[in-house]
Amino acid sequence: MTEFDFSPIEPICRSFGVELTREIKTRLSIYGDLLIEYNKSVNLTAIVEPSEIVIKHFLDCILFFKNICPKEKSSIIDIGTGAGFPGVVLLIIRPDLKLTLMDALEKRLNFLRVVLKKTGLSATLVHSRAEDGAKDPLYREQFDYATARAVAALPVLCELSIPYIKVGGYFVAMKGDAVDSEVAKANGAFKILGADNPSVYYETLTGKEKRAFVVSKKISQTSPKYPRSFAKIKKNALK
Ligand code: SAM
Repeated sequence: MTEFDFSPIEPICRSFGVELTREIKTRLSIYGDLLIEYNKSVNLTAIVEPSEIVIKHFLDCILFFKNICPKEKSSIIDIGTGAGFPGVVLLIIRPDLKLTLMDALEKRLNFLRVVLKKTGLSATLVHSRAEDGAKDPLYREQFDYATARAVAALPVLCELSIPYIKVGGYFVAMKGDAVDSEVAKANGAFKILGADNPSVYYETLTGKEKRAFVVSKKISQTSPKYPRSFAKIKKNALK
């Protein structure tokens, strides 16, 4: 089993109230180990060094809890979850959360099925494109939170994600350096889809890498016209 050194991130997590218990570290290690192993045959991530996995995947996702404190048993959908970021990390820290992991690629969900089994956690796996799943009454406006990391530019991501959120729930988009210009371009999209003006929380990983959490509250229902087909969303993103 690969050795993961959590010491660089433990004090950071503790500073905002997340204690990396033995159980959490064991589950993160199982997850990281499977990520490295499966990545040899399935394309899951470009980050494969254990020290980088700890910072660029685990810490990045745990920072979610710095500014967002979901109530017990809140429902969260992670859209375009890929190898499980941020969803699986959120669940490892908070196993009470009712997590749904959605991705268009089945091979990634097959990997996640193994991760959930080996870590003893449970989540709902949905194989669907986000713009299709959002039309299904099982998922539409059913979640306290929708989140996504590294899936699409913000105006596109808004249309893919906000339809899933209940009125009163939150959209949390995890973004990098160019967040300010993305938010400026997405202001109209938030409004059209029924979400409030977003707040942006800026973070820096242990090196110099910039991260940002874009958080917006859903204040009214999304019109049934949205989301449109992916071709239309891409060609004519909401402004
Ligand atoms: N969120 C993960 C992360 O941060 O590591 C994965 C990011 S990966 C670059 C983008 C993922 O989004 C892929 O797994 C892809 O299959 C998925 N994806 C892209 N467009 C999607 C869509 N419209 N519906 C569902 N999944 C989508």
